Amino acid sequence: MEAKDAYIEELLSQLTLDEKIGMIHGNAMFRTKGVERLGIPPLKMSDGPMGVRQKMTDEARKDICMTDDLVTYLPSSSAFAATWNRELAGRMGKVLGEEARGRGKDMILAPGINIKRDPRCGRSFEYMSEDPYLTAELAVPLIRGIQKSDVSACVKHFVANNQETGRLDVDEQIEERALREIYLPAFRAAVQRGGSYALMSAYNRLNGTHCSENVPLLEGILRREWGFDGVIVSDWGAVHRTKEAAMGPLDIEMDVTTDFDNYKLAKPLAQAIHAGEVDEACVDEKIRNILRLMICLKMIGSTTSTRCSGTFNTPEHRAAAFSVARESVVLLKNEDGRLPLCREKLKKLLVVGKNAEIVHANGGGSAAIKALYEISPLLGISMKLGGNTEVRYVPGYFIPEQQPENTAVSPAEQRRQAEQEQRLREEAAALATAYDEVIFIGGLDHRLDVEGKDRTDITLPYGQDALIEALLDANPRTVLAFVAGSPVNMRHFAGRAKAIVWSWYSGCEGGTALAEVLLGEVNPSGKLPETFPASLDDCPAERLGEFGDPKRVVYRDGVFVGYRYYDSFGIAPAFPFGHGLSYTTFSYENVQVDSEETADGGVTATVHVEVKNTGTRMGAEVVQVYVSPSVRGKQRPLQELRGFKKLFLKPGEKKTVVVTLPTEAFAFYRKEEKAFIVEPGTYRVRVGGSSRAIRAEQDICIAKKNACRL
Ligand code: BGC
Repeated sequence: MEAKDAYIEELLSQLTLDEKIGMIHGNAMFRTKGVERLGIPPLKMSDGPMGVRQKMTDEARKDICMTDDLVTYLPSSSAFAATWNRELAGRMGKVLGEEARGRGKDMILAPGINIKRDPRCGRSFEYMSEDPYLTAELAVPLIRGIQKSDVSACVKHFVANNQETGRLDVDEQIEERALREIYLPAFRAAVQRGGSYALMSAYNRLNGTHCSENVPLLEGILRREWGFDGVIVSDWGAVHRTKEAAMGPLDIEMDVTTDFDNYKLAKPLAQAIHAGEVDEACVDEKIRNILRLMICLKMIGSTTSTRCSGTFNTPEHRAAAFSVARESVVLLKNEDGRLPLCREKLKKLLVVGKNAEIVHANGGGSAAIKALYEISPLLGISMKLGGNTEVRYVPGYFIPEQQPENTAVSPAEQRRQAEQEQRLREEAAALATAYDEVIFIGGLDHRLDVEGKDRTDITLPYGQDALIEALLDANPRTVLAFVAGSPVNMRHFAGRAKAIVWSWYSGCEGGTALAEVLLGEVNPSGKLPETFPASLDDCPAERLGEFGDPKRVVYRDGVFVGYRYYDSFGIAPAFPFGHGLSYTTFSYENVQVDSEETADGGVTATVHVEVKNTGTRMGAEVVQVYVSPSVRGKQRPLQELRGFKKLFLKPGEKKTVVVTLPTEAFAFYRKEEKAFIVEPGTYRVRVGGSSRAIRAEQDICIAKKNACRL
């Protein structure tokens, strides 16, 4: 027996049942009970993905209004996924870990790596992508970065928490193949390659059973197949039945209520053990996992004195958040080189739109944080331009007071709001004719990008469509910039606008980063981590499957999620997956794909391509590699992302990109064989700057069938 295991067994043998039970359920909103006499501390957790949450009361998730808990506001996962930059993901993870540890936490409840199945999902802004490969590639360095500070990541929400409607109970009916190919791979990578010490089981049911009590999922797949020996924490209130949860692989039950002693894994469990209905050995297994985690985090054992102390709000943390924000901005459209704005000629600038001035860090649900500061786009633009440019701001639209749930707006109030909307629109349009340069900054906010509620459609709220049209009528040069966490319908204006810039809830320096892109100080290099659909009717969950039923959702869309659907079914999106323009241009030359059989009968393909910056500015390109099987009889998507690399090139500079594709890049899941299968045949390897901007391709031939267990 290893020394570590012996130590765990020794501690375990000294613990009473009550002490063990205290360690496996919440004893405050974000803490379990420790065992002081044995030197076992409580496990302290905190949300979340955009930074460490503020200090809260033990009994409720409520701010206690201190001033020593302000933190670095980090870009949301949707923002940092748009960087397609693994190195930045690692840097951001390191910041999150240091801040969490700096605030005395043991576990940060992040990252959220659910697949963006439908743009209406309220928590899309907290998730990374519609693509499992991209999600996995970014989650792995992020988790490793977090855990460098002796803090545990906690990947969430396992699995398929893809809608907020009825999230506590909804039954997500997903067939095996879609689960294996779409919804599970990022979690597998997070635990196997990222080494995440913890994972959060989701609220929803999967194929009939709540995830926290779902033995095939937690025991069969997570523990046995993937070999996960970390800690499984329930989402807050996701445990429903004492015996099932106790005898299953879940380790810690957390909840949102304050009767901690009555949690399913508290007194009811003690009673069940005393009654002989549950074996105490089940609890011991959980304690072993928790103690193992505590050793890894240097919370107990001989290494406690060397545990990282962390730090928060450092200049380095702000710099990392800034770098992510800069690389996350996506230039969607730029006709006639409308952007960047020419700063020297900019004497008068009109900025229109509420999202220019509002800040977002304090919204969204459990991801909300108390930011040390947040630069709004208007502040960013004004700071950058300085005193020689007149910057005039008008809101253009307004955000009505939030109505209490289920109350209707009175007809008189509706009239008043319509009049106000019209007045603000007319004021903005009248001014727009008088300004050479007009920037509209709109989008969504955390009333819509929010936990606990899905959007009902993807229309821009607050009358922004009419405002944008009025601005474009008044001044066709108007530049459109958006701040949002999920796609919106742009059909009213995407064709007319010359320039469209997309940014996200992108952290404390988000507004500065957006300003730098508009003014050309930063050359945009963000790429969409999800498809922007032309309309909601086009979305696969809407067309083929179901979305938003609070009771049961059947995933008839199967593996056809995001671009896998749009590309296979020939549906034109507003902006495709992987899309993002630059102020410079790139050429792709001399693509070459070599493949060879591996010792285990698999295949490795190596893609070489020369990419050159053919413009006059430094810029970055994300070279994306898609694999397209020639035989698509098994309902295989037209193409799937299997590799990417972000390249930074000076004007005229050329670099050779090398991307290696392992066997699994050619595989699909066959449930009859319970394995990923590579079929013999021809595969087209496609290389380009987006899923729809393929610049070079080459076929390779795979001679033998291969089965891989993943
Ligand atoms: C959310 C989790 C979060 C937890 C703790 C739940 O409602 O779904 O993502 O980590 O609360 O705040």
